[in-house]
Amino acid sequence: MQRTYLHIDMDAFFASVEERDNPSLKGRPVAVGGSADGRRGVITAANYVARKYGLKAGMPAAKAKRLCPKAVFLPVDARKYTYASALIMETLEQYSPDVRPLSVDEACLDITNVLHLHPSAEALGRKVKSAIYDKYRLPSTVGIASNPLVAKVAADSAKPNGLRVIPHGGEAAFLAPLPVDEMTGIGKATAAALNRLGIRTLGELGAAADKLLKAHFGVLGPVLGQMARGEWAGRMKQDADRARKSHSLTSAPTAPKAKLRLPFGKSVQLHPSSPSAQSTAAGAQTAMSEAFSAAPEEKSIGNERTFGGDVASENELRGWIVALAEMVGRRVRRAGVEGKVLTLKLRYSNFETLHHQSGLPSATSDEQTLILYGWRLLKEVWQTGRGVRLLGLSLGALAPIPAIGQIEMFDGPGRRSRESLYQAVDSLRDRFGERAVVRAMGRRWERSEQRISFGRPV
Ligand SMILES: [Mg+2]
Repeated sequence: MQRTYLHIDMDAFFASVEERDNPSLKGRPVAVGGSADGRRGVITAANYVARKYGLKAGMPAAKAKRLCPKAVFLPVDARKYTYASALIMETLEQYSPDVRPLSVDEACLDITNVLHLHPSAEALGRKVKSAIYDKYRLPSTVGIASNPLVAKVAADSAKPNGLRVIPHGGEAAFLAPLPVDEMTGIGKATAAALNRLGIRTLGELGAAADKLLKAHFGVLGPVLGQMARGEWAGRMKQDADRARKSHSLTSAPTAPKAKLRLPFGKSVQLHPSSPSAQSTAAGAQTAMSEAFSAAPEEKSIGNERTFGGDVASENELRGWIVALAEMVGRRVRRAGVEGKVLTLKLRYSNFETLHHQSGLPSATSDEQTLILYGWRLLKEVWQTGRGVRLLGLSLGALAPIPAIGQIEMFDGPGRRSRESLYQAVDSLRDRFGERAVVRAMGRRWERSEQRISFGRPV
């Protein structure tokens, strides 16, 4: 069956969120990341005005300052962006049962089974774009095509605030004139190696002999050729198939999309535990604890938090999941590993303790993924309004991050800018301490939520 995918990528996401929340920034060059004086740090996002001066994600702030002395440098507010991202993902789920977040500001929707509800693919694309803009005042670009990679390249080619539909059968013709590195998944090193073979465009790559590609790139070689011809359905399709199977097993529309080599082991267990088992650091109102269980097969990294009083507000619990995900993500990245199973631990005020777990789309150390899945687990397991005494998040089924070659193959600009964001956030915590960041969390969280929730009048 011919499938159709819609790729949506938010335009200059972090910068757009900042512009929305502070209209005085409109029309000015804005760089997120780096210190206010633009002397230290790395830029994680630049708005389109700043891009005219050559500013871009991954650039040292000092260089950005030289290129554009007028630029406004703003600190990274990761919580605000992840929250905005989660709202966007939720909105996207109204348009397709199969939404795959690819990064904090990108998602791919399989729209095959919902296309008939709309006049055309283009009409659906416009609807999605305007729904997000109307609700959150954030611009995006949409690409639609018969496979996720072509849809992404189509979106990249239509930025900013654009929409491009590649008709079925038109994939190869659309891709042919583009330089090889415009294909997502073809990084700098692969592009350079292709150029050395005289292959500069995707058309040339698509026409190259499998034998030649195999000789230089191993088993991935012929896959590169397929990608260039717009034929490669790849991981997304497999994921989608598995996700559908998982859904039919659980029949829960909001169930996390578990997949890949994972037993779709969502489980809720009751762990009766005694009051004495709770964490009660002497005199401390609250206690933050870290757990690293090193049983041979069940390695996991987790953090938990015991609250001074009961917490019954959904927003506050979601905020704590953000904070816990950041701590876990950071420790996991430091350890040089990734994990595939996320477990939420929740203790009610009567000490009834639940462990709820989900497989993740793929092994990750990505905070954004941990937050989204942590929220979903909370939604599934928490009895709304009931007081919570402790929350914990842990990442399990840990394994070392795969070899460089593999990473480069699927390394898009999104991943790189996210990594620089994490570096920035991690170094911030190194300087000011994790606890300080965590303590400030509650109030900051409420503030950013208030700003976001009034949407339209901004
Ligand atoms: Mg983007």
